[in-house]
Amino acid sequence: MALLVQKFGGTSVGSVKRIQSVATRIAASKDLGHELVIVVSAMGHTTDELTCLAQAISKKPPQREMDMLLATGEQVSIALLSIALHELGVQAVSMTGAQVGIVTESSHGGARILEVRTESIKQKLGEGQIVVVAGFQGTSLSSGGTAEITTLGRGGSDTSAVALATALDAEACEIYTDVPGVLTTDPRKVANAQLIDTLSCNEMLELASLGAAVLHPRAVELARNYGVLLRVKSSWTYDQGTTLTSQGQRSLGREGLELGRPVDGLELIEGQAVLGLSHVPDKPGIAADLFESLSNQGVNVDLIIQATHEGNSNDITFTVDEIELPKAQKICKNVLQKIGGELLAQTGMSKLSISGAGIMGRPGIAATLFDTLSRKGVNLRLIATSEVKVSCVIDASFGAKSLRAVTDAFELDDNQVKINPKVSGIGEPEVRGVALDPYQAQVCVRSVPDKPGTAAALCCALADAGISLDAIVQSERQQKNGARDISFTLKKTDRLQAGTALVPLLAKWPGSQLEDGPEITRVSAVGSGMPATPGTAGRMFRALAEAKINIAMIATSEIRTSCVVAKADGLAALQAVHNCFDLGGQDALQQKDNFF
Ligand code: ASP
Ligand code: MG
Repeated sequence: MALLVQKFGGTSVGSVKRIQSVATRIAASKDLGHELVIVVSAMGHTTDELTCLAQAISKKPPQREMDMLLATGEQVSIALLSIALHELGVQAVSMTGAQVGIVTESSHGGARILEVRTESIKQKLGEGQIVVVAGFQGTSLSSGGTAEITTLGRGGSDTSAVALATALDAEACEIYTDVPGVLTTDPRKVANAQLIDTLSCNEMLELASLGAAVLHPRAVELARNYGVLLRVKSSWTYDQGTTLTSQGQRSLGREGLELGRPVDGLELIEGQAVLGLSHVPDKPGIAADLFESLSNQGVNVDLIIQATHEGNSNDITFTVDEIELPKAQKICKNVLQKIGGELLAQTGMSKLSISGAGIMGRPGIAATLFDTLSRKGVNLRLIATSEVKVSCVIDASFGAKSLRAVTDAFELDDNQVKINPKVSGIGEPEVRGVALDPYQAQVCVRSVPDKPGTAAALCCALADAGISLDAIVQSERQQKNGARDISFTLKKTDRLQAGTALVPLLAKWPGSQLEDGPEITRVSAVGSGMPATPGTAGRMFRALAEAKINIAMIATSEIRTSCVVAKADGLAALQAVHNCFDLGGQDALQQKDNFF
């Protein structure tokens, strides 16, 4: 007999009829002999409607009162669902977040879960009851000692469900929703998007904009860290849906459930070479030619970064294993002969990476890494950031020293630190899904000093303002005084604040200035098999070239390759990339008729 946590979203309990259907479904699971904890959201658009009511009264209602108000939505659903279960002759009891012991931080409106005290829920399960829990809410002790109602932030019921599954050591956490599972891309943009059977939590997190449309990212982070088996299924059918896997094996410690250390891995890969091509023409097909030639001759490229510069030319930089350098150099020279540009090669480099769930959502992490390294006098040759990893390429002679400093900075255990680990992802698909992120803006800081601490200072200044950077790219070319440009992307909504946050820093760098790029969008291909499959990037760039799309920026991480393209090219780029990795099916995915 398995203990399952099943979560039903707002649409699935959106009407009396649907609640009755869900109850029937739950009763059937119970008949199979499972112990069940059910988590539900508020009915339909209740949370939005309640928010509107409050806003009709006040532009800025107090957060505490908002939590008090919004938490009522879920209480309606748990009571109705329990009543429906009783009607079917099934024993069930509804419980609020506080009653099941979901203890959170004291902040309102987006509290993180500290622990789940499982005694009461276990007792009810022991009595043979189905426990129906209000998602999205928890309780905290205010300074006065009164229990306060808190909420976890919009979409938070998924997180309630995974937290319960973690604390109860459930066999699986099943999220029932109104989509068939996680799809290879957004079906509204690419008609033949297909269901993904299985993917890892890391892949899901890297597909940020796609993944977040299906699951609350904090739920995926929890599942990743604690190794919860997560399934996303349609509430309307009995199909298998998507299974999310993870290798996480954290145990419940004294740290808060959602607060534990964000960085849980550190890697150093030695024997790396950097190849930098500068002043290559800025037009479609250049990156495709280069990386196709490399993969055709069996050179596996690791990081790739590219940014556009003034004067209509690009710099492309990438890393390979040192052994491949002579071959790679020859290929680059051949390509440059045709298109023009300069080549610079550097051996004796190492790649240092930290990993953890939700790194990009916590801007302080990348900033701490860069700052730690700069304090040791380490110059960052290349930087690559992603949702679950931040890497930098450094001079090999700094390897040991950097490793020690970073281990200390993130309080890592020896078993979390790996030197020259084996290539991961053998046998996994190179690309599992493709996502479009239209909410990014491209910014360039011109003429910054090329010395240790520059990137750190930039990231720290922005992190202090709560802003995450993505795709940080340092130019290959240097000005006469040695200065370089640093380009990056960030959320559009953070752009204004970023300008303000950088003012004091730019004042310290004479001649430097902030410049906005044109309107962009970012296409990302994600797959665990990417590190083990040569040529993925080349294929992606070729697909874009064939669609006559120019790539403004390239940024890769271990399991993600992202290209920034002009906003107007976004949709075509998504379709081209989805198509080139054969992710589409013959037809549009059958969305089964809603049988409620
Ligand atoms: N009812 C809450 C919301 O609409 C929580 C959830 O549905 O997950 O955001
Ligand atoms: Mg949801």
